[in-house]
Amino acid sequence: MNPSGVKPVKQQKIKKIPQRKCVGCGEMKDKKALLRIVRSPEGEISLDLTGKKSGRGAYVCRSKECIAKAVKEKRLERALEKPVTEEVYAKLLEDLPDGQ
Ligand SMILES: [Zn+2]
Repeated sequence: MNPSGVKPVKQQKIKKIPQRKCVGCGEMKDKKALLRIVRSPEGEISLDLTGKKSGRGAYVCRSKECIAKAVKEKRLERALEKPVTEEVYAKLLEDLPDGQ
């Protein structure tokens, strides 16, 4: 018997890659492949390109389509618990690196 109740698995390395769900398409992806959108303690919503901003975060694919989906279907504002205005949305697209 294994005291922890967890089977030792050979592919344990896979587990170490943190995965997050895109609020746009809903797919699980590597955290690194996603963009973090953060709502700061002051209530400002912005792209977190460093991954170090504090606040409540949501993850989205690096694509305008997913950001658009996340905003239009109100999943981003639900995740951040704050309304995402047109201005915020425009800024997110503006700050999107290598926009597609
Ligand atoms: Zn996506």
